[in-house]
Amino acid sequence: MTPSECGAWVRSLMAAERLGDLYRSYRWQVLRKRILAKYKHECQHCKARGRYRRADTVHHDRFVDKYPELALSEYYIDQHGEQKPNLIALCHECHEKVHGYRTAGKKKQKKNAPPEWW
Ligand SMILES: [Zn+2]
Ligand SMILES: [Zn+2]
Repeated sequence: MTPSECGAWVRSLMAAERLGDLYRSYRWQVLRKRILAKYKHECQHCKARGRYRRADTVHHDRFVDKYPELALSEYYIDQHGEQKPNLIALCHECHEKVHGYRTAGKKKQKKNAPPEWW
């Protein structure tokens, strides 16, 4: 799947409010397993602060809703032409923080969506 095909697919899922299908897809399941293994299931934000926590989430540095064509890309090229990791292993707490959800339950999760739908 090319980035533009991926973008078209993810946009159509968002339009249908079925973004959960992305996370249930075989492509994503294979990719997230590979990313978690690459980071040895270690939360990268905790690691940066010298703590160890098991990562259970793969986060998109380029948020899926803003960059749907990067939803299945392990890397992206930033504005300076540098290659950056797009997919990062995080623990649940760091993942909530990075998305700005300070209080759990404040923002209701959509029904039928896995916990890491964003
Ligand atoms: Zn963490
Ligand atoms: Zn995320």
